[in-house]
Amino acid sequence: MATLEEALLRLEKSQFRAKFRLSEKDKEYVREKGRLEIKRHAEEFIASRLAPAHIPNDGKQTPMRGHPVFVAQHACACCCRKCLEKWYKVPKDTELTKIQQEKIVNLIMFWIEKQFSGS
Ligand SMILES: [Zn+2]
Repeated sequence: MATLEEALLRLEKSQFRAKFRLSEKDKEYVREKGRLEIKRHAEEFIASRLAPAHIPNDGKQTPMRGHPVFVAQHACACCCRKCLEKWYKVPKDTELTKIQQEKIVNLIMFWIEKQFSGS
């Protein structure tokens, strides 16, 4: 996988990916829960919905809204194994390693943090 900066630069060039934003409600949720708690949610979502080798509903496991991490997953192309393969060359049908999961969580948290700066 690419570095965070490389990944974000590529994502910003995608019209589809670049249009995702955290809503005020999402930001309020992040402030309320705190970054550590949100990171814990991200770890859980990635471990349960993205990491397994076989995901019956792959492509549909990440709602478009309802949690800041879901929004970030779409913005970062970490929403499903098809997108992970297309964007980051992570092969499907293999379990994600702990390190891969960590990188995804870090990217998601980095993107969420960026939503609080500027715009
Ligand atoms: Zn996807």
